Amino acid sequence: NIGASDSAEFLKDTLLGGLLAAGFDERSCLSRYHSVKGLSGNPSPYLISRLRKYEALHKECGPYTKSYNKTVKDLRSGLLSESPDCKYVVWISYSGLGNRILTLASAFLYALLTNRVLLVDPGVDMVDLFCEPFPDVSWFLPPDFPLNSQLQSFNQKSDQCHGKMLKNKSVTNSKVPSFVYLHLAHDYDDEDKLFFCDEDQKFLHKVPWLVMRTDNYFTPSLFLMPSFEHELSNLFPNKETVFHFLGKYLFHPTNKVWGLVIRYYEAYLTNVDERVGIQIRVFDTRPGPFQHVLDQILACTLKENLLPNVVKKHDIPSSFGKFKSKAVLMTSLSSGYFEKVRDMYWEFPTVTGEVVGVYQPSHEGHQQTGKQIHNQKAWAEMYLLSLTDVLVTSSWSTFGYVAQGLGGLKPWILYKPENETAPDPPCQHAMSMEPCFHAPPFYDCKAKRGTDTGALVPHVRHCEDMSWGLKLV
Ligand code: GDP
Repeated sequence: NIGASDSAEFLKDTLLGGLLAAGFDERSCLSRYHSVKGLSGNPSPYLISRLRKYEALHKECGPYTKSYNKTVKDLRSGLLSESPDCKYVVWISYSGLGNRILTLASAFLYALLTNRVLLVDPGVDMVDLFCEPFPDVSWFLPPDFPLNSQLQSFNQKSDQCHGKMLKNKSVTNSKVPSFVYLHLAHDYDDEDKLFFCDEDQKFLHKVPWLVMRTDNYFTPSLFLMPSFEHELSNLFPNKETVFHFLGKYLFHPTNKVWGLVIRYYEAYLTNVDERVGIQIRVFDTRPGPFQHVLDQILACTLKENLLPNVVKKHDIPSSFGKFKSKAVLMTSLSSGYFEKVRDMYWEFPTVTGEVVGVYQPSHEGHQQTGKQIHNQKAWAEMYLLSLTDVLVTSSWSTFGYVAQGLGGLKPWILYKPENETAPDPPCQHAMSMEPCFHAPPFYDCKAKRGTDTGALVPHVRHCEDMSWGLKLV
């Protein structure tokens, strides 16, 4: 709640208990300072100290610093200095917005673990969506970065691709390339996946520039690498908070997007007893809405007591002003589900007498990757969902993962419908608030053979919504 009565809470939450660095101009990024909802749990003092250390490194090595200029010069000439002051991970802007938020958090964690500096390809819309997370020096790649024109064309066939180098046996200790392209997208192959082996990290460690393309939240597999184990357990004693803390640290809506969030929140979501978020993502090429999806939404929310049922027989209006109120925030590319749920609570009284308002900010029709206002709305909606108290999400959707992770919420996940029927049970309460890694490797680096990576340690398990995926719990 952002009412005046909460101003004490509001002040206490400024900079999220030390997770965020001080030293920014408040007006340049209001969302850093106006937290509507606090953190879920406390970040470890070690994580906080590592973030401050990272910020110092970023200031030392970020765009146009002395160290950056020197390392870029080496990159241009293709020569390698003995020991560059700074090493980098370059994140390529790729895929839908939910995917990008998850991959950027994964890339940052990898940078933190390997003492590298993260630089972000701004793509077409990143600058309009996110504030700078690190003080003093930008995280965006400058326009004259030498590899800019190649970023979008790097692929598995590129000579600098790590997987291809392994196939060609061109990975040697004697000759270290000035940069390597890491292909970690959903279609990566067995060689690309060796990124997740300590042995290969030894080679990558020497390379000044690592350029990464991914559409996956690969964090869970970092937790299976012995070389990162100790550091990760110090950073995150509670493993299900990885995306929650890194996400709250990195992703602050720009003032434009924050306006979309705050105006909507204040108009529709304040002054209610409970906020329920319902994120609907239907992976079907035909235009919806589908009756089986609506059936599933109602079956889940009613069965789990997230929303009250309605009385269709009597028409006794509920007593005025006495009962609890709920605001339901729905998000979907189409408006069909929202209209049905809204009408249901208008046309009939609830069995509990509760008052239910149903709202949906946009219905954009279809995914429009790379269109500015479209993704500003998508980002605002993910953020708004994260501000709810109870969340229902759709299987397989990174849009929903971002909302649950930022919100510190264990969602009820709607199972993926098969054969146009609502699954029974319709949904399941998630084990943790962490996103699912959709395309993890199943390889035992030491034994050099396949293995079930979801059965090695108790804190890395198969996901609720994708049996082959991996998530932290
Ligand atoms: P995913 O495909 O569900 O994993 O999520 P992504 O965010 O990666 O890609 C889906 C894209 O479709 C989003 O970035 C949005 O541009 C758009 N989209 C999907 N669902 C919604 C929605 O509920 N609201 C809005 N505004 N856009 C959506």
